[in-house]
Amino acid sequence: MKIPVLYYHKIDYPKKDAVYKGLYVTPKQFKRQIALLKFLGYDTINPKEILSFVKGHEISVKKPLLITFDDGYENNYLNAYPVLKSAGFTSVIFISTGFIGKKNIVSDEREKVREDFLNKSEIKDMFKDGFFIGSHGINHYYLDRLEEGVLIGELIASKAYLENMLNAPVDFFSYPFGAYNANVMRAVKKAGYLGAFTTVRGKAGVGDNSYELKRIPVNGYNNIFNFLYKTLILQ
Ligand SMILES: [Zn+2]
Repeated sequence: MKIPVLYYHKIDYPKKDAVYKGLYVTPKQFKRQIALLKFLGYDTINPKEILSFVKGHEISVKKPLLITFDDGYENNYLNAYPVLKSAGFTSVIFISTGFIGKKNIVSDEREKVREDFLNKSEIKDMFKDGFFIGSHGINHYYLDRLEEGVLIGELIASKAYLENMLNAPVDFFSYPFGAYNANVMRAVKKAGYLGAFTTVRGKAGVGDNSYELKRIPVNGYNNIFNFLYKTLILQ
């Protein structure tokens, strides 16, 4: 068995001038996807259970699933959180701490459309409700291009900021732009994270590296059949 870890960005209708329209999964698509997962008997798990699973321990959940969001858009709170909550699901939100409560852009320079990011009270709300908060660095940099001091700062300061806000440990990281290498992985471990998620496509399997966890991207171009195929059927 392998565990699917889905990753989303924006749950919203694509903004008219947005260049990367695929990053938007509409609220309607999202609702349908969550209803399908629920119908098929999937249950969301704690990200710590993924670690225990890749290390070879048994998992008690029959059809485990992890749902993640990168960047920390406010639309996650407005359009995804209520849907997940009513299905009895949770998710992990990976936040770039420098964008909290701001309007900003995280894609490359081609994108001109700004998005609203989660503010502190929205993050705290979800956390109190059993959702998990992870770090996505401070400034959404390509971590493999940074000098050592800046790299360590991105990892340690974002973790400390979130831990201070939530008064709880923040154990997981997701690499901005999916950019990492052996040095970045070492630094993430040294900064005290227990695991990290990539954008390498695939499911979590026994023996995988805790700092190189694979995920399955879900984008707005997927109809429900593609979604079903690539998230659940494809190994
Ligand atoms: Zn990102």
